Amino acid sequence: MKLIILGPPGSGKGTVSERLAKDFHLFHVSVGDLLRKEAKKNTALGKKISSYIDKGDLVPHQMAIDIAKKAIDKKQNFIFDGFPRSVDQAKLIQDVDIDAVIYLDVPEKDVVKRLSGRLLDPVTRKTYHLQYLPPPKNIMKRLIQRKDDTPKVIKERFKVYHQETEPVIKYYQKKGVLKKIDGRGDPAAVYARVKKAVTL
Ligand code: ADP
Ligand code: ADP
Repeated sequence: MKLIILGPPGSGKGTVSERLAKDFHLFHVSVGDLLRKEAKKNTALGKKISSYIDKGDLVPHQMAIDIAKKAIDKKQNFIFDGFPRSVDQAKLIQDVDIDAVIYLDVPEKDVVKRLSGRLLDPVTRKTYHLQYLPPPKNIMKRLIQRKDDTPKVIKERFKVYHQETEPVIKYYQKKGVLKKIDGRGDPAAVYARVKKAVTL
């Protein structure tokens, strides 16, 4: 199975992907995670990547494509989390036969609440939320807030999402592979809807 999951920042893409990956034995490709990993290195490339992420802008399309393609290599079962993020990127992976594109539909006011309380575990790359998805107490101390989960950067990321990524939803809708899922409600309820849509 080859899947794509799209939705606004904070809509739950990572949370749903992690569960799908486990249940369906899919390789989870989060381009955002791979970029953050590279950005942590003190290299010229790392610094260049940080300059985009920290502002909430997309990294150059070719860079995202290269990272995504390298990650899947020849794998037959994977989920692209938050990729492609523009129609240009989508067109550049036209040769990949995608089975379904999940679109998590969540109102902006809800995602802002999710983003402002998001906590990332740098060890496992899992995300938690103090209120909605509480982390185990023993790992609490090591959790961090993402540098781009601040009101100013969130605003820019939404702008980029509306301009660049929303057209991708229409692009896949026209291709007949889009599955629009109501992303409101608690993580278990959202995941149950996604799982049902994927297994249909
Ligand atoms: P979120 O889950 O909040 O939507 P991500 O972790 O997916 O955020 O992405 C974080 C940042 O990484 C983005 O704001 C952007 O700078 C960069 N990024 C992630 N995926 C892509 C992509 N497909 N193309 C370009 N930039 C990307
Ligand atoms: P994305 O990958 O789309 O940016 P995440 O999966 O990182 O989104 O989720 C954003 C934040 O919201 C995280 O703190 C996560 O724990 C929390 N979250 C995920 N799904 C839900 C949900 N259904 N309801 C409430 N909070 C959620």
